[in-house]
Order: sequence, then structure tokens, then C-alpha cells
Amino acid sequence: MASGGGNNRNGTHRNSLKGTTTTSTVSTDKPLSVNSNPSKPAFKNKSSPLTGASSGLRKSSPGSLGGGAAKDDAGVPGRVRVAVRLRPRNAEESVADADFADCVELQPELKRLKLRKNNWDTDTYEFDEVLTEFASQKRVYEVVAKPVVEGVLDGYNGTIMAYGQTGTGKTYTLGRLGEEDTANRGIMVRAMEDILAEVSPEIDSVLVSYLQLYMESLQDLLDPTNDNISIVEEPKSGDVSLPGATLVEIRDQQSFLELLRLGEAHRHAANTKLNTESSRSHALLMVHVKRTVKGREPAHSSDNGNSTSMARSLRPPLVRKGKLVVVDLAGSERIDKSGSDGHTREEAKSINLSLSALGKCINALAENSAHVPVRDSKLTRLLRDSFGGTARTSLVITVGPSPRHRGETASTIMFGQRAMKVENMLKLKEEFDYKSLARRLDIQLDKLIMEHERKQKAFEVEIERITAEAQNRISEAERNYADAVEKERLKYQKDYMESIKKLEEKWMMNLQNQGNERKMVHIAGEVAEVKKLLSKETSLRKAAEEEVDNLKSQLAQLKMSEASANSEILKLRKMVEDEVCQKEKLEGEISMLQSQLLHLSFEADETRKRLDRGGPGKVPGRLDSPVSQVRSQLKDSGNGEKASVAKLFEQVGLQKILSLLEAEDADVRIHAVKVVANLAAEETNQQKIVEAGGLKSLLMLLGSSEDETIHRVAAGAIANLAMNEKNRELIMSQGGISLLSTTASHAKDPQTLRMVAGAIANLCGNDKLQTKLRGEGGIKALLEIVKCGHPDVLAQVARGIANFAKCESRAATQGSKTGRSLLIEDGALPWIVQNANSDASPIRRHNELALCHLAQHEVNAKDMISEGALWELVRISQDCPREDIRTLAHRTLASSPDFIAGLKRLRINY
Ligand code: ADP
Ligand code: MG
Repeated sequence: MASGGGNNRNGTHRNSLKGTTTTSTVSTDKPLSVNSNPSKPAFKNKSSPLTGASSGLRKSSPGSLGGGAAKDDAGVPGRVRVAVRLRPRNAEESVADADFADCVELQPELKRLKLRKNNWDTDTYEFDEVLTEFASQKRVYEVVAKPVVEGVLDGYNGTIMAYGQTGTGKTYTLGRLGEEDTANRGIMVRAMEDILAEVSPEIDSVLVSYLQLYMESLQDLLDPTNDNISIVEEPKSGDVSLPGATLVEIRDQQSFLELLRLGEAHRHAANTKLNTESSRSHALLMVHVKRTVKGREPAHSSDNGNSTSMARSLRPPLVRKGKLVVVDLAGSERIDKSGSDGHTREEAKSINLSLSALGKCINALAENSAHVPVRDSKLTRLLRDSFGGTARTSLVITVGPSPRHRGETASTIMFGQRAMKVENMLKLKEEFDYKSLARRLDIQLDKLIMEHERKQKAFEVEIERITAEAQNRISEAERNYADAVEKERLKYQKDYMESIKKLEEKWMMNLQNQGNERKMVHIAGEVAEVKKLLSKETSLRKAAEEEVDNLKSQLAQLKMSEASANSEILKLRKMVEDEVCQKEKLEGEISMLQSQLLHLSFEADETRKRLDRGGPGKVPGRLDSPVSQVRSQLKDSGNGEKASVAKLFEQVGLQKILSLLEAEDADVRIHAVKVVANLAAEETNQQKIVEAGGLKSLLMLLGSSEDETIHRVAAGAIANLAMNEKNRELIMSQGGISLLSTTASHAKDPQTLRMVAGAIANLCGNDKLQTKLRGEGGIKALLEIVKCGHPDVLAQVARGIANFAKCESRAATQGSKTGRSLLIEDGALPWIVQNANSDASPIRRHNELALCHLAQHEVNAKDMISEGALWELVRISQDCPREDIRTLAHRTLASSPDFIAGLKRLRINY
């Protein structure tokens, strides 16, 4: 029941607490004149007085409510509608009242009820509907309940209530289940039928509570243990709720009937327990209908015409919540009459406290009283929305015909009359259903996520498939490529091997031819040179012989003069000695020429014999000089016999020969160096040459001379001396590397380079000198030398590199050398790799060896792989004619993790 203020609208008025004044004539207990009924305007509807306002309401759908449906202060006036229903005489009345007329007379067409006061006087009352004893349950439903039910479906609260004395048909009207005869179905059953027919089970909901109020205790008829339900009123909206009450969702009529039956059974059991009857308690059925408004803008957002579809999809659904309350009140018989049922008067008062409070409230509302005692009872609290509130309320008052109960009937009629004056303000219960929007969006989101995941999965599967396919294609292409490469490689290898073989054969032949030719030319040249020297020598010897003869004769003269001429002799001897000094150069040259001649000669022994025979004794005193010896030898050699160089230097003296290296005469120097070179070729002489300072002289010659022949021969001699381990250290300590490098840089003759390279190559074979050799540019010098391209030179370079690599490898194995090979550091690797497969077998062999040595050490592996040495190693391991190198290469490849990885990466099947 409303407790707020009201206002006049369009000439109609509201009888509620809210109303300030009312100008209408208020009906009292006195009969009303037809025209004075304040509710008259609402009766104008032709079809049915009770449905009149309702159909008006239905026509004025929310949209037509002036956009005010959702506004708190808006509403349409809706007076409480009251119908009166007369119960037919029952069996007892038919007998007991057989001789009496009914106390009421109905004029349904005039909607009037006449209450007999006595035999001659009646009071006339007008109601919204007058239902005779012949009115069918269907008709009662249609005029009393249907408009209310429709209102509930439209989002308005509704109340249908039966009021009347016990036994007058309240329960019959409201609660009949009509199981035996469907025509007897009461309002509850029919209302639910209509509701269920209208709602959509998917989006709408129908929830039901069923309660009993007895002696101010609210019991749950759907859960008997729940017998003290509290009423919660929301102060702002005035809405009443029962959070403790069981709410059952109804989906079909059958389950509703079962629920009613269950409620009735519980009611019966509860009343038995409390020693009461259902007539003493109020039964309340509450039906909560929530409907989603389809395809309609909410009333208060309808002005906004340009909302986008996006916004529309995000707009929460609009729901309307109508609550139908069907109240089967306790019997309205007067309290004083009910003392007979065993209750005390006080108890009876308490039992009907709610009912009397309801009467008081309705009176107050009907009279626009300032105070409506809503809070006096639970019933009035529960029904605050039904009277003077926002609900559409339809009251049916039930009366019996018996004149014995005239008083009760009159009281009931008066209650109905007063109730008719109560004006409600109907309000649409419309709101946005954010929860449902959230749910919907959640579902949509889930769907989208699922869809996304499904697509993602499909995408991944597709990617995987494509990847696998691509992988297959790649591997197939790679396989094909590898096969093709392998085929090509084998073919080229075969061709290569064949051509190598051919070339080698050719090379060998060429070499033989060239060797022979070169030897011949060389010998011829040498012979011509020797011949020339010989003729020169011969003339010199002749001169010398003449001199000797002269001296001899002088000596003879001197001897003859003996003692007297002793001083003269000494003088002469001195002269002879001077002469000897002057001739030394010539002698050196002679000896050199001799040595060369002898070196080429194969008749050393005969020469030695001759020398033995001729003996030093033949020449007396200081005449036993190199010059004279050479001379005598040359004289002897005229017979075609040549002394060996060894013999020569034994006889002439190494010192003397070496001194000729510094002779002023270039030719002498050349010949001297040749002699020394030849001597150095003999291992037995090497030590002596070095001890005599020959090495130093040779090195000096490299630095001081500009003659390439001297360079070539000296380098050759140094190379020979470098065969000896000790000498290598000496050469190095005396700046041999830089001298050799400089020599190489000025050389024009490949043979010079060959000698230099040979010397460096020999130096490369020294474990201790590796770092020094490299530090002084030995490796760089070799790499410079290769630019000449001559195979003989390259072979020497390769030998040097191989020597170096071998020593280095040994040092690394012993642990005295760490880090990358110095050869790699100095950039020799590309040349080695390039020439590892050289057509010239010496070059190839040395380079192969060098590669194998380098490969021994993992630290070199990466560079080797990147420089392409891996291919060469594979080739060496397969094709190298030398088994030891082949095995070494193979072992290295098989044991080095880097090479194994490299082989794999380069897809070399090994
Ligand atoms: P109340 O609930 O008001 O105490 P009931 O509905 O129990 O009264 O009715 C009492 C008796 O009268 C029941 O047997 C019912 O069948 C019968 N009765 C009431 N109204 C009618 C009617 N309109 N037609 C036939 N029988 C009725
Ligand atoms: Mg009843």
C-alpha cells in the first residue's frame, strides 16, 4: 500500500495516502447512488468494467506511456476493481433457508447488488462486476483476473484477492484445480495457463512462491520447515521481497498444479499442527514473471534515433518484471463470532490481526486519510503495492445467499465498496537486464574464443602441413642436389684422375726431356766456360811457369853464390812471397775452376794419384801455395783427370777459398762461391765451411752482392748448409731469413727463387725456430715467392710449408705450441688448399702433407673448413697415392668433431 503523496490527473483522482484531497463523494456504508460512484468513469468501457482500464492499459503499451514508463514518478491511475460473487445455496442452506428468501439480490446487467435489510427495504450497491451464482469459473476469471494477468505479462504488478466469509467460495474462486472437471478451474490455474501461453521459455522466466500467513507468521508452503519468513522492504522503491521464500521456476502447467497440490498439502499439515483451519490463515501465491522485450527500444532511450548497430548489440536487453499476487484471505467473519472454535478472543484477534489491519488500511486509503497503518500487520506490509501502490488490483468479494449471515455479507459488501475507492498508480516495471547482457556477452565471447581457437588450431595444422610439405620438398631437392653433385663429383674425379695420370705421364716425359736438355745445355755452357777459363789458366800457368823457371834459375845462381848471397836469397824469397800474394787471387780462381771442373769430372781418383805422385815435396818451402797447387792440378788435368773438390780444399785450404768470396773481381767471387757451394753440397764439408766462417761469408754475399748468379749459388749453398740442424740456428741468428727474403724479392731467375725457397724450406724444418722464422717473415717470404709460378719454386715452397706444418704439429702435440697455426695466421692456407691438388706431384704431395699436419689440431679446423680444406682432406683420404698420408687424412677426418660437423653440414657422405 502506497504511503506517498498523489496527484490529480485529467480530472481523475487518487485515493491513496499520497492524495492530498479528493472532491469525489466517498461512498460509505450507505448504499450508493449509481451516479455518485467515483469509479464510474472507469466503467465506461463497453466490454467489461473490470477489463476496461486494463484494455486501455494494454493499448497504451509502454511506448505510448509518454516515455515515462521507466520514470519513477510516472504512472497511470488504476482504481482497485471490485467484483462481487454470489455462491449458490449449498445443500445445508437449501434445507435450512428453504422458507427464506436470499439476503442478496443481484442485478448483473446493472452491476448492482441489493442487500435485503428486511422484507420491505433493501440497500443497493454498485460494483465493477456482479457475478451471480450462475457465473462460470471461466467468466469469473475473465472479468476478475484476466486483465490483471495481462498487465503482469506487460510488466505491471498485479493483485487478485478474494475477500469474504468462510464458506462463501474464496478458495473455490481462486484455488480450484479443476481436476475432476476442467470447467471448475479457478483463477490461479487459469492465470498460470495464460502466463505460460505467453512467455517464451528460452528468454522469459516464471517463478512461483506459495506462502501462508497465520498469526503473523509467514510460512513457506513449498518448504514447511521454513516457517518464519521475513519481509524485506526496499525503502527507496517500496518493493517488498521475501528473500527466504522458496522460488520455484514453472515451465509447464503440470508442474504448477503439482506445486499447488504440494502447497495445499503442506497448508493442511501446518493447520493440523497448529490446530487451526485454512479459513484462519491467508494463502498467498506469488508469481514473478520476467519477460524480455523483443525488438523494442527501451522507453527512455527511444529518442536516440541514431544509435549504431554496434551500440544496439551491446545494449542490454529490456526486461519487464511483473509480479502477480493471488491472495486467498482468511474468512472475514466477525471476530466475536469465532470464539466458538476454541480460540480465545485474544487469540482470535491475533489470528485476524492482518485482516483487520487490511480493513483499516483500505478505509484510510478510501478516505484519503493522512495515515495508512501499513506497518500494523504482515499482510498489509505484503500488500502495500496492491492497495495505494503501483499494482493493478482486482478484488472479488464472495458472499453467500443465506439471510442468516446477513451481517457478514453486509460487512463484506462494505469492504468491497471501500476498496473500490482505492486508487493505484500503475507503473511499468521495466529495466535493463545487465546481467543477462553480461551473460549473453559472455556466451558470445566464449563462442568467439572457441571459434578463434578452432581457427587458430586449423591455422596451425595448416602451417604444420605446409611446413612439413616444404620440408619434404627441400629434403627431396637437397637429396637430388646431393646426388647430382655426387655424380658430378665422381665424374670429375674420374676425369680428373685420368687427366692427372696423363699429365703426370706427360710431365714425367717432359721432365726427362727437359732434364736431359737442361743438363746438356748446362754442361755445354759449363764446358765452354771451363774451356775459356782453361785457356786463360793455361796462359797464366805459362806465365807462372816462366816465373818459376826464372826463379829457379835465380835460385840456382843464388845457390852458387851460397853464403855470400844468403841475404840476397832472403830478399828474393821475400819477393817470391809478394809474388805469391799477388797470385793468390789467380790461384783461388784456378782452384775454383778446378773444383768445378773436378766436380763435374768422374775421374777424381786418378787425379788424386797424380797429386800423390807429384807430392808437395816437389815444390819447396812457401811455394807450396794454393795457386801452385791449383796450377799443378790444372797442369795435370790437361791429361783429363780432375781432382775432387774435397781434395782441392784439403790442399788449397778452405780459408783461402773463402777469402776469394770477397775478392774484388766479380768473376773470382762468382767462381769462389760456386766452389763453396759445391763444397757445401758435401755433408762432410759443411761443418768445416761453417767453422771457417763460410756461412757468414755466404750470408754477407747475399746482402752485399747485386749479382744474381752469386745470389743463386750462395742461396743454394746456404740451402745445403741449412740441411744441418745446428746451421739452421746460425743462419737464423745471422739474419738469414731477411737476407733470403730480400734476395727473393730482387730475383728474376726462377732458379734463384728455387734456391732461396729451398733454403727457407730447410729452415722451416726446425722445431725451435718456428716462431722466429715466422716473426722474421719467413712464411710471408715463401708466399711472395709463389707468385713466380715456376713449378720447381712452388715445390720448394710447398716443402717448406709442409716442414713448417710438421714441426708445428709436433710442437702442438707436445704442448709447446697453442693456438692457430702460424701458417694460417700468415694466410698460407688458401695457397695450400689451392695447390693441394696441384698437377705437379711434389707440390701436391707437400701440400697434402701440410694439410694433414694442420688438420691434426682442432684449433685449425674452423679455418680449414671455411677455406675449403675439408674437400681436399676428403680427397686426400680417398685418392692420395701415399697410403700413410691417406690414412692420416682419414683418421683426422674421422676423429675431429669440427670436421665431422663440417662434413655433415656440407652433406659430404663420409
Ligand atoms: P471459502 O474458501 O470462502 O471458505 P469455499 O471455496 O471453501 O469457501 O466454498 C465452500 C463450499 O462452497 C465448497 O464446497 C465449494 O465447493 C462451494 N462453493 C463455493 N462457491 C461455489 C460456487 N460458485 N458454485 C458451486 N459451489 C460453490
Ligand atoms: Mg477457503
